[in-house]
Amino acid sequence: FVLNCTIKTTLLATLASPTTSSTSVIDEIRVLADTTSGRICTDADATALASTDFGGNVSVVGARPAAVFYPSCPADIAALLRASSASASPFPVSARGCGHSTRGQATAPGGVVVDMASLGRVADSSGRLAVSVDGRYIDAGGEQLWVDVLHATLVHGLTPRSWTDYLHLTVGGTLSNAGISGQAFRHGPQISNVHELDVVTGTGEMVTCSKEKHADLFDAALGGLGQFGIITRARIPLTLAPARVRWVRLLYANAAALTGDQERLISEHGALAGLMDYVEGSVLTDYQSLIASRPSLSSFFPDANDARVAALANEAGGVLYCLEGAAYYGGAGDTSAAHVDKALEVMLRELRYARGFAFVQDVSYVKFLDRVRGGELELRAAGVWDVPHPWLTHFIPRSRILDFAAGVFHGVLRHDRAMGPVLIYPMNRGKWDGGMSAVFPGEEEVFYTVGILRSAVADGDLHRMEARNAEVVRFCENAGIPCTQYLPHYETQEEWAARHFGPGRWDRFVQRKRKYDPKAILSRGQRIFSYPL
Ligand code: FAD
Repeated sequence: FVLNCTIKTTLLATLASPTTSSTSVIDEIRVLADTTSGRICTDADATALASTDFGGNVSVVGARPAAVFYPSCPADIAALLRASSASASPFPVSARGCGHSTRGQATAPGGVVVDMASLGRVADSSGRLAVSVDGRYIDAGGEQLWVDVLHATLVHGLTPRSWTDYLHLTVGGTLSNAGISGQAFRHGPQISNVHELDVVTGTGEMVTCSKEKHADLFDAALGGLGQFGIITRARIPLTLAPARVRWVRLLYANAAALTGDQERLISEHGALAGLMDYVEGSVLTDYQSLIASRPSLSSFFPDANDARVAALANEAGGVLYCLEGAAYYGGAGDTSAAHVDKALEVMLRELRYARGFAFVQDVSYVKFLDRVRGGELELRAAGVWDVPHPWLTHFIPRSRILDFAAGVFHGVLRHDRAMGPVLIYPMNRGKWDGGMSAVFPGEEEVFYTVGILRSAVADGDLHRMEARNAEVVRFCENAGIPCTQYLPHYETQEEWAARHFGPGRWDRFVQRKRKYDPKAILSRGQRIFSYPL
């Protein structure tokens, strides 16, 4: 990172001039690497790392990029994209946040992976997280982690409203999907909470866009699976930050009671409206092995309760459900502890959980939001974090969630001993924006997220879990349950068009692709487009 940005950008632009047809794309990339003072790296360690991801089941050789690019500013990325765009054989370019994808989405087979983190490693990177207290927003670099966004805003008594469960994901990475968690029912996904973006398009143009300016690119990029541009900055609105959280878990013996209560909590009407700031839920299909494998879970249900909970699980036919809620208070916000206690009292009286199985903790706001980190550190210490993760997440319309529960939790997954959470929680469709690229069920006001987030720890697990995932999909097809994949993965364009987007949305997606990335350079790891379009 010794050259200044202008010089490097000029150099890249020079190298970008169209090459003779005899020069292969790979050679072109090597030339860039040789002449840009370590900013392009082709060594095997770097390219191997850039071809792996959290999913851990991508064929390393097949998906390996030719090079990794370490930009020091957005203009570097623009120059790289112009280089590819101007080439006789445009080479794939993919932004890589942290590689938390599970199906090779952040790879660029045979092309260049852009290591987004390097934008935040330059000498003066302080501007990559800039809070405007008066404007109530933060400008965050696309490479920034949400956990760093949280800490930068809390210094000013402010916070974003919509989160993911895990905060060690990048801003650009989650905004390219949707960014969902238990706050989305009220505030929408993270993509519904953005004022403005800086995007470098597939043609290497640097564009600032919002709902007012270049709205089509703004909508395309949000939930756009990296297809239309690389997000280098997002302006995120902020609100007053609470200090603490009453965090509740309630056990249920059946799905109908759980989902009924979840829907009452996310409704804008009724006695329970507005009581919770966060609503999620999970399914414990194999309570005992879950307890054994996830110490952080057992700490929520203290050991003394193990026997009682196991008895409840037996009574319930082996499958337990858990509602998870959180109410914020204190800090810069105006909700008092007394107010939250009153809300909890109403909630615990009204909800239909198994009596005697309510567990409440009081934790700091930071500890609550960054809760998955604790589990990560435990799993890392046990050597079971860097294992394959054949995750499958669906959005299911409200009217079919109980059919899904019966067929999948009490059927396909019932005796499948596996490590990892199975999440189930509802969203209000009205908080999603149909103009954006993210795909979600369109007909009913409420839809559910169901995440089967399992870790393949033992030999044979990966194969078995992939087979179970296929069974889940087959079950839904046979039962006529419309499932929309979140963090989607399909092998062919036909599947993307027919199964994911559907006709109208697909046509719009393709039109936007032709406009912003006509040479299909970006995020080929998603396997949606190839060159020529
Ligand atoms: P990557 O995996 O590196 O990239 C994802 C895709 O986006 C790729 O196609 C890439 O090319 C593209 N991309 C990356 N950066 C940019 C950019 N700046 N501009 C344009 N395109 C870009 N998701 C949720 O919504 N809610 C959750 O609660 C949640 N929890 C998670 C927990 C864990 C432990 C993990 C591993 C993932 C979780 N996710 C969750 C999924 C997460 O949102 C995705 O993995 C997402 O891709 C972000 O990861 P990343 O930043 O590492 O992006």
